This record gives sequence, structure tokens and C-alpha cells, in this order.
Amino acid sequence: GLLKNGRAHPSVFAQMSARALAHGALNLGQGFPDDPPPAAVAEAAIEAIRRGHNQYPPGIGEAGLREAVAEHQARWYGLHWDPASEVLVTTGATEALAATILALVEPGDEVITLEPFYDQYAAIIALAGGVHRTVPVTSRPDPGSGDLVLDVSTDALRGAFSERTRLVLVNTPHNPTGLMLRTEALQAIVDEAVRHDALIATDEVYEHLSFATAHQPIAALPGAQDRTISISSAGKTFSVTGWKIGWITARAELITAVIGTKQWLTYSSGAPFQPAVAVGLGMPASVFEDLAAELRERRDLLTDGLREIGFRVSVPAAGYFTVADAGPLGEPDADVLAQRLPTEAGVVAIPLSAFYRDGDAGEASGHLRMAFCKSRATIEQALEQLDAWA
Ligand code: PMP
Ligand code: GLN
Repeated sequence: GLLKNGRAHPSVFAQMSARALAHGALNLGQGFPDDPPPAAVAEAAIEAIRRGHNQYPPGIGEAGLREAVAEHQARWYGLHWDPASEVLVTTGATEALAATILALVEPGDEVITLEPFYDQYAAIIALAGGVHRTVPVTSRPDPGSGDLVLDVSTDALRGAFSERTRLVLVNTPHNPTGLMLRTEALQAIVDEAVRHDALIATDEVYEHLSFATAHQPIAALPGAQDRTISISSAGKTFSVTGWKIGWITARAELITAVIGTKQWLTYSSGAPFQPAVAVGLGMPASVFEDLAAELRERRDLLTDGLREIGFRVSVPAAGYFTVADAGPLGEPDADVLAQRLPTEAGVVAIPLSAFYRDGDAGEASGHLRMAFCKSRATIEQALEQLDAWA
């Protein structure tokens, strides 16, 4: 299984970051920010280490962080969870996703995701023996601006359900496209999940990185909270992707099931980072909004620059990434282009095929994912180099 179909190889992010290092190329590939975390968050971790907070925390997570997660969900979304039984701390959203799918999906169960999808999803669904069903995110050029418009059809979402559907795994805001699912689409998912008695898992790691409209958590929609496992993490919200602190909120029975798996994966998660993330979650709204506003400016810097060079670009509503079509520049195959760019332009980007089953991106085979969570200087330099190359 995993060995045969290549999932034992380094992920595309590891491969392309290694190429950036090897060629001294600018890394617009892997999604990690150049910026430091908020000072109070960093200080809290250093302080925790100094005061000796370095041994195994409880498997479910430290009480202070579970309370902070519950308060954050209440403050931002009006969702109420019992921090004693309905919140679980994990080793990043990565472990939250793995433990959730491994705990809840039996061999032969169907799991629905969008396509493209974050590459881990397919790997874990395969580890669980699940059957992966996908709903396409479509793209078309906007007749006015010429930009790429990405969307997912509500009917297609409905149509993906069957009597074998165990879990629908929603990712909004979405990696790699930066799409935020519309409330009608989310409600259609909830209604179908109720009809088929399926569970919903929602990956909301980009919840605070939205540029225009507020994030809509699916758990807050009518009929959803009882059957939804909500997953998020500190990595993006506090610019600490290497800390690997994530969390799950769900009703107690589901949390208990996921703990049953998590205990054998990592048992517990990063002791000194837990109180620091609790500090972060309690910060004023302006701290979260300032990060999104800064990222929005970098989105515009990158998308405007790419458009001027001749790429067709998407203008994402959220997250770290834009999807750029290099077709107009004469290289229709993004897999080839991603291999050429590090040496020819000194820039690393991820071909969108990495987010498709069997690497077949279909209509998006000319599309690259480019990260704008990098410093302005890096983005400007990358644009200069791409312009010279084009
Ligand atoms: N889900 C999505 C959609 C992601 O983009 C990422 C990685 N950035 C993760 C999950 C993993 O999150 P973490 O780093 O908290 O494990
Ligand atoms: N989530 C990051 C991205 O999409 C990658 C994390 C990883 O390397 N696994 O770029």
C-alpha cells in the first residue's frame, strides 16, 4: 500500500524545501512564515522552559490550554465546549487529523474531501483502509479581470455522499487554493451528513487568516455541532509552524475515541508550548486581525506582481497561498515548471498536482501553488527573478 504507491517517499514540501536549500532558491513552496511569533507568545514558551515546565503534560492536554481553546471558540464563534471533556490537545493539526481518521474510519468506509486536498488526507485515509471520494474545486478565468476564479459546487458536494460515507473532511479556508467555502455549501454538507448519519471533520488551521469575510466554522451551523470534529492549530495563527500544537473540539464521546488513538501516536504534546499557545489564544482580536491584514498586503504584492509578469492568478480569500497558472508563459505542465524554476529562476513553487489523487491535476495541470507568507523582501526578490526568467 503505502510503499507501493509512493507515500513512503518524502512529501512534496520536504522535497521542494530541500531543492530550495540545494540551489539557494527563494522558497515560495512550503507554507511557513518568515515572521516571528507575537513576542508575548514566544516569551511565555521561554518562561515555561525556565520554570521547569518540561515533562510529560496530560495526554488530553494541559488544563490551561484546554480552557483557552474553549474560550476562544466561545469568543469567536459562539460555540460552547466543556474544556474537561470536549477539548483535546494534539501534536499539530497533523496529529489531530491522523488520530481522528484512524479512530473513526473502518476499512471500506468512505471519506469525502475536496480535490485538490492537503496531501496528508489521502495518506491517512489509506492508512485507515478508507475509500477516498473527492469533490472537485473548479477553476475558470474571470471574463473581466482574467484572474482564476475557484469554486466548489453545492450539488457536487451533495452528490458525493452515499450510504457508505462515514466522514466528510472539510478544509476551509482551503489549502492549496485559499478558498473559503460559502455558508450554503457548508450547510449542504451538514444536511447531507445528517441524512446519511455521517461524521464531519473540519480542518480550520487557516481560521484567522481570512482577508475579507469572517471564517465560518461548520460546527456553528444548525445540526452540525454534535457530529463535527473541529481541528485547528497554533502554527498559522501565531506563526509557529514548528511548535506543533493543535487541538480538537468535539462532543465527549468523539474526543474519547480520538484519545484512544492519540495515546499510541504521541501520548502527549509539547509541554512548554502549551501555556504559550494559551497566552496567544487569549490575545485581543486586533492581534489576529493585524496578522491577516499584513498577509493580505503580501497576497496583493505577490498576485499583482505575478499578473504583471504574465501568470494568470487566483486572488485567494484566505490563507498562505495563491494558485498561479503559467500557461500564458509557455510552459503548460506545472510539474515540469516546478522542476525548472529552482535552477532557472531561483524560485521554488509547488505544482498543484501534489494535491490531487495519483498526481493527476487535470484542468489544473498548469497550476503552481505559491506562498505569500514570506517576507516582503523575499516576495519582491522572487518577482524580480521570475520577471527576468519569463
Ligand atoms: N491542515 C492543513 C490544511 C495544512 O495546510 C497544514 C500544514 N500547514 C496542516 C493541516 C498541518 O498543521 P500542523 O502544522 O499544525 O500540524
Ligand atoms: N502545510 C504546509 C504546506 O501546505 C506543509 C507542511 C508539511 O510540510 N507537511 O505547505
